[in-house]
Amino acid sequence: MVHYLDNAATTPVRPEAIQAAVEAMGEGWGNPSARYALGSQAAARVKEWRADVAGALGCAPEEVVFTSCGTESDNWAIQAAAELGKRKGKHIITTAIEHAAVLEPCKALERQGYEVTYLRPDRQGNISAADLERALRPDTVLVSMMLVNNELGTVLPVAEAARAIQRAGCPALLHCDAVQGFLKVPFTPKELGVDLLSLSGHKIHAPKGIGAMYIRKGLKLPPLIRGGGQEEGLRSGTEATSQIAAFAAACRLGRESLDRDLAHMESLNAYARTVLPQAVPGLRALTGGGAPHILPITLPGYKSEVVVRFLSDRGICVSSGSACHKGKPSHVYGALKLPKKEQDGVLRVSFSYDTSREDVDALAEGLKAAGEQLFTSLS
Ligand code: PLP
Repeated sequence: MVHYLDNAATTPVRPEAIQAAVEAMGEGWGNPSARYALGSQAAARVKEWRADVAGALGCAPEEVVFTSCGTESDNWAIQAAAELGKRKGKHIITTAIEHAAVLEPCKALERQGYEVTYLRPDRQGNISAADLERALRPDTVLVSMMLVNNELGTVLPVAEAARAIQRAGCPALLHCDAVQGFLKVPFTPKELGVDLLSLSGHKIHAPKGIGAMYIRKGLKLPPLIRGGGQEEGLRSGTEATSQIAAFAAACRLGRESLDRDLAHMESLNAYARTVLPQAVPGLRALTGGGAPHILPITLPGYKSEVVVRFLSDRGICVSSGSACHKGKPSHVYGALKLPKKEQDGVLRVSFSYDTSREDVDALAEGLKAAGEQLFTSLS
């Protein structure tokens, strides 16, 4: 039996999303651009699915463009905002704890002569809205701030950022990577005051290979992919109907059960905060509050990769904080300036509507065994 506690990495595809994808492939396989019935039926379904995603997000269907993943949406938002603002300035603000999908395109712009300010978190992983306000300049053309950090679960002050940009009167567009926030904390793009916002399907129980970008009505973005003119000419390429169908099903169901799911994840998070420190002396949570689905912990004195492998042998999946980026130490935990012993022992536990107390109990048991056996083998 597998105890899956790595839902911030990816989520199991829910059965209704699989069913929706199979239907779209099996019966509704027409090309939405074709003029005969099979095509126009597919186009009508895409319209409905777009409305489902928009309904869960709380925006107009015309404001949703389908992409292939969160990374694609992030890259597009940053490059397009820089392109739009290039006559007004070359200053960008983001945070030091963004996902690589934001940091890497920012670094690419630095190589093209842009100046990027990286806001640093405090020791609990919080980003200060006052720091952002101080960093804004008349030539700031983009602020990119994630809603929920994927390694810490902290919620960033995106709505405050929008108000600060307005007060400063600078031309900056506001982009938000909401990949970890969608269906995990309640928000709408309008409440946040963002211009652009990225989503990913596989974090919300849809398959990999589908994402979306919210583009505020009235904002004219340069196209990401030029071709046949699909997605209002913004991202050409025949629509990935089965992926979109599955994404829409996950959105519909996630929206319906949002309150119940959030309460469930909050209660699991609180439960884990109680039982895990009892399993291993010295174990502590790195952050408090934040999004309900992410709990970063540290086991000082242990190597997290070793613990992850030990747990994996017992069917328990969590992610290692210090080596989760293909062997490179995490820039996020690094930004907290933890003592080395704590940084080496970081694990990220993450929940979904589908996680049970038994999964958390299994983790506590596994960590207890790791504490005893790994400690013995080290001594
Ligand atoms: N942004 C954040 C905050 C994420 O956690 C992830 C995935 O881990 C991404 C972007 C990238 O999304 P995708 O895997 O859909 O490309």
